[in-house]
Amino acid sequence: MTVLRPGPDSEPTEDPGPDLLDLDDHLLGRVEGDPSAVTVIMVGGLHGNEPAGVRAILSVFERLERERLAPRASLYGLAGNLPALRSGTRFVESDLNRMWGGAGRDDGAADGRSRRALEGHMEAALSRARGPVVLLDLHSTSSGGAPFSIVANTPENRRLARSFPVPLVLGLEESVEGTLLTFFGRRGHAAIGFEGGAHDDPLTVEHHTAAIWLTLLACGALWPEAIGDLAGHRRRLRHAARGLPPVVEVSHRHPVRPDDRFRMAPGYANFGPVSRGEVIAHDAAGAIASPADGLLLLPLYQGEGEDGFFIGRSVPRAFLLAERVLRWFGSER
Ligand SMILES: [Zn+2]
Repeated sequence: MTVLRPGPDSEPTEDPGPDLLDLDDHLLGRVEGDPSAVTVIMVGGLHGNEPAGVRAILSVFERLERERLAPRASLYGLAGNLPALRSGTRFVESDLNRMWGGAGRDDGAADGRSRRALEGHMEAALSRARGPVVLLDLHSTSSGGAPFSIVANTPENRRLARSFPVPLVLGLEESVEGTLLTFFGRRGHAAIGFEGGAHDDPLTVEHHTAAIWLTLLACGALWPEAIGDLAGHRRRLRHAARGLPPVVEVSHRHPVRPDDRFRMAPGYANFGPVSRGEVIAHDAAGAIASPADGLLLLPLYQGEGEDGFFIGRSVPRAFLLAERVLRWFGSER
């Protein structure tokens, strides 16, 4: 819905939705259909300074209700780190997206309480599910740049992620311990991470909203006519990711410890090209050069975070095609 805001230009702006500070429950929305159909769990704000995913999830449930759409599926929308969303920080004491599956610090701290509450909601959804389960985990980045998806390299993950016309990044979630994506993946569920754009860019909410509708379509939860502006959702993502390779494989992660005083050099964004030897950051030990030619991913431009940057490489189309042919032969046998 659009509202007119008073102001010198009186431009119609998207309704920002309920104030996120008022959130007192992780459960943003729930639709329970036939348990043997697909179950989709959407999570936003695992990092508290990334509220765009929460806003997108709220807008999708709001539209489902307004249009009286009854998905074939069961859908759950969850808000991640509630105290960090209130304070607008990545986390309170420790990173909620590094403490899944027994990894990291999950003590009595606020972040750990959020993790356990979230897991309770997820276990309730999983214990009801009799069909396939899909996790969609929505994030945003401290740098600018195009949206992209992050998956572990399984056929179902790749099939779902390719339903968004944005680069698919492989090998990134494996390089970070204790993520929600890995936790779901290890239990045999499809799990897609989606980076919608910069934290404070209004387009990020639109990218997240598009990713949700396209996921619901790709996994059979909704039919094309139920998605109000299907062509528009695809167009917005295609436009944001124009000129970028379809698949990028991560080959290097630069870890950051709290006392490193890591500072990314200014001006880098997701998918920006870097050359081997190019100085792209500094820390207490001096200059940090890119170890390879490639594409920069997730350059860290905020105080909090354990990943300084990643370097990836575009996977050639010919290779992807060859892999597909090999898999086809494999499945024939
Ligand atoms: Zn995040």
